[in-house]
Amino acid sequence: MHRLANLDRQFVWHPFTQMRDWVRQEPIVIAEGDGSILRDVYGREYFDANSSIWTNLHGHNHPKINAALQRQLKKIAHSSALGLANEPASILAAKLVKLANPQSAVRNPQLNKVFFSDDGSTALEVALKLAYEFTRRAHGKSVGQTSSRASQPKFLSLEGAYHGDTVGAVALGHIDLFHRSYSGLLFRTDKVMAPYCYRCPFNRAKPERADAREYRKCNWECVGKVEQKLSVQKKRGNPYAAFVFEPLIQGAAGMIPQPPGWLRHVAGLARAHGALLIADEVMTGFGRTGSVAAVCDHRTSPSNFSGGHRPPLQPNIFASHHENVQPDFLCVAKGLTGGYLPMAATLMTRKVFDAFFGKYEEFKTFFHGHSYTGNQLGAAAALASLEILQGPASIRSRRALEKILREELQTLWSLSNVGDIRQVGLIAGIELVQNWRTRKPFALHERAGIRVCETMAKRGVLTRPVGNVIVLMPPYCATRAQVRRMVAALEDSVRTALQ
Ligand code: PMP
Repeated sequence: MHRLANLDRQFVWHPFTQMRDWVRQEPIVIAEGDGSILRDVYGREYFDANSSIWTNLHGHNHPKINAALQRQLKKIAHSSALGLANEPASILAAKLVKLANPQSAVRNPQLNKVFFSDDGSTALEVALKLAYEFTRRAHGKSVGQTSSRASQPKFLSLEGAYHGDTVGAVALGHIDLFHRSYSGLLFRTDKVMAPYCYRCPFNRAKPERADAREYRKCNWECVGKVEQKLSVQKKRGNPYAAFVFEPLIQGAAGMIPQPPGWLRHVAGLARAHGALLIADEVMTGFGRTGSVAAVCDHRTSPSNFSGGHRPPLQPNIFASHHENVQPDFLCVAKGLTGGYLPMAATLMTRKVFDAFFGKYEEFKTFFHGHSYTGNQLGAAAALASLEILQGPASIRSRRALEKILREELQTLWSLSNVGDIRQVGLIAGIELVQNWRTRKPFALHERAGIRVCETMAKRGVLTRPVGNVIVLMPPYCATRAQVRRMVAALEDSVRTALQ
């Protein structure tokens, strides 16, 4: 076993990993990366099919981001944001505000302030705490005053939601497996049906060899469920403080895409019922949802799924904007630095900011922050990444990659273990089932997703499943040949591991 693998086995505890399984085999130890390729300590090459857990945008070892980091390193790596401003963080905040308020129909509300933090979970914690206290203050509670249970701000999020691992972010989520042990630590949030067309109890369509959103037969009962939930809570005299969602596609829930029109509609309902909107764009931000077009009014044409092949002239950087939804809080992380460094941001409206603005002795201050808030290296990497993202070359390659992915994934329909293939922009989820005709799922203990991904790794393609869903989310620089190899490895691995 390689010396570094040995050290890892002895000393490192890996995230979301059963360590008993981990220590049984020699881990892949990554030594280098270049574009979409990762290289291990033995010189073996792997295709990074999930962009290093959804973080990387333009490929590894990108000359422009490397150069930006080197330039910043010659100045300073880090100084505190507690009491000090710095160059790249100030410029980045201005840039994020510009990107979050595009010159499209999505003008209101304006997102004009940026609170930096370290990762997706902390970006959500910031939104959560701000929305909570903003709502209390809007209801006339003064600082430090406790609320009666009835007037405590409550949050609504989607079934299967995942918004991070810190205690507040976990409370916003609804994945039973992650909650069970910690329920005593968590506060209560409500959940509402997510639009999971492939397994929707209201979808009367028989399985077909297509994305379930395209052939579903329903009356948008999922929208009705959201409306019902909002209305019951409002009638109790304590409307939800905020509705928290991943726009267009829920990631860790199992790559569950929303049918076009769903988000626009439920966002409107949430607002009409007095809830703020918290968009978790930790996975979907920075172009990941590609050029999916804003689609027709689903109420009038519920079965008219367009699939979104009409790219807007300026591709949206944020998924919410595809549906003309402008949230009150926009949470970003993962791709913010192009996948280089841990940095996150929560953008919010001036109205929220103003609720915390006052004389020192009023103690309206937002008492929250981390040591590395506004880190210069992270901000420098983010600025370089955003410049690449907005350049014509990246726009062209994202459009091309989205099309390539759509075309190449078609071959997987020939597998009887593939139940659903769902693609949103540059993100694809392939749901594995025992038989596509019955949609019968594999039991979790069968580890179908894990077995397929382990087999793919032997064929030089790295990704991680979400349960029985295989995630394909390559970096934007992936070529057709690489995508073809990735899909072939998946096809071959499904045959080897499951048939
Ligand atoms: N929100 C979403 C939508 C995510 O996918 C994730 C991470 N997978 C998080 C929040 C948490 O981000 P982090 O792991 O950076 O804390």
